[in-house]
Amino acid sequence: MIIKLNGNKKTPEGIEKISNAVTGIGESYGGWTAQLLPSQAEPHIIGIAGDTSQADVDSIASYFKSIDPSVDDVVRVTDSPPLVSRNLYPDMNGKTLRVNVNGIEIGGDDFTVIAGPCTVHSFDQTLELAHWAKEAGANLLRGGAFKPRSDPRTFQGLGIEGLEILHRVSQITGLPVVTELVYSTKRKNGETIDCLAAFIEYGVAMGQIGATNSNSHGLITDLAQTGLPILHKRNPSASIKQYTLSLQTAWLAGNTNVVACERGVTAPDTSYQRNMMDFAAIHALRQQTVLPVIGDASHGTGREDLVEKGTLSSIIYGAQGTMVEIALPGMVDHCDYAQSLKSPKALKELIANCREMYAIVNGKH
Ligand code: PEP
Ligand code: MN
Repeated sequence: MIIKLNGNKKTPEGIEKISNAVTGIGESYGGWTAQLLPSQAEPHIIGIAGDTSQADVDSIASYFKSIDPSVDDVVRVTDSPPLVSRNLYPDMNGKTLRVNVNGIEIGGDDFTVIAGPCTVHSFDQTLELAHWAKEAGANLLRGGAFKPRSDPRTFQGLGIEGLEILHRVSQITGLPVVTELVYSTKRKNGETIDCLAAFIEYGVAMGQIGATNSNSHGLITDLAQTGLPILHKRNPSASIKQYTLSLQTAWLAGNTNVVACERGVTAPDTSYQRNMMDFAAIHALRQQTVLPVIGDASHGTGREDLVEKGTLSSIIYGAQGTMVEIALPGMVDHCDYAQSLKSPKALKELIANCREMYAIVNGKH
């Protein structure tokens, strides 16, 4: 259930009173907690977390209305728009939330660049590519330690060793790390590895939920509970409705630091592209949600020669950042080599052109 508040009547004291009442009533229903949705978005709603299926929504509504005049209505979540929906936050006036990743703000005034190899193959490879990224002006370093490869016979990443490499490289270059969570815990040789604890131990700055796990609500909830900001990619066959429903998963776990990412949808013809960038989806996400949105034209096109075009186009459609893959030339067996930029110059040009395009699109020229 969610409690809708009247923006003109709400007060901090009223919100506290309502929150306490949620806990109080919830005792009869197995325990409820009140969730205040993002403070940047000036919440007009309070979420009720817990099992509300047995509660009568009308009597709950009249009770809350009687305790504070700001309560407009109480509705079941199934009858209401996803929590990330823009129409729930009229004060946002077309702006998006800002997600802070170790001091880098995604969705703020500047265009954010997340660059790095698809996969961490070695310390030397990752360090060299991180230097390219740093010198070209990227903000964050990407690199997969755990890889959800389409073919399970192929390299699945270095695992914890990959996280350790990313940590060392981050300490040398100062670039915070974005890396994908594929499982919260993993069994290996009879032992259980706690991947989430390793994310914290090795100082991961932002956890990525990849396209293949875009609807894995348990995994997203686990990641959300660490408090790390989340880059939540769209599944290539998800409608915007399905994606938006999934995008609220971390919010329901109390973590609103979520960035949406369009990374291409299933293409009808893969002879000239791996996936097909759905540019209008970027526009739709900006219109329909208050989340910052970035584009990933590396996976979105699968072609080195289309990455810059795809990235610049995504900015025209409203992207506030990009994720871009880079690879050392000659390392043809490295993951996603074909779609990676292969020189510091290409990366530098892409980033410079993106920042210029971003300034034009956002009216600063
Ligand atoms: C990635 O970013 O390395 C990745 C696997 O992307 P996606 O989940 O979008 O396929
Ligand atoms: Mn990749």
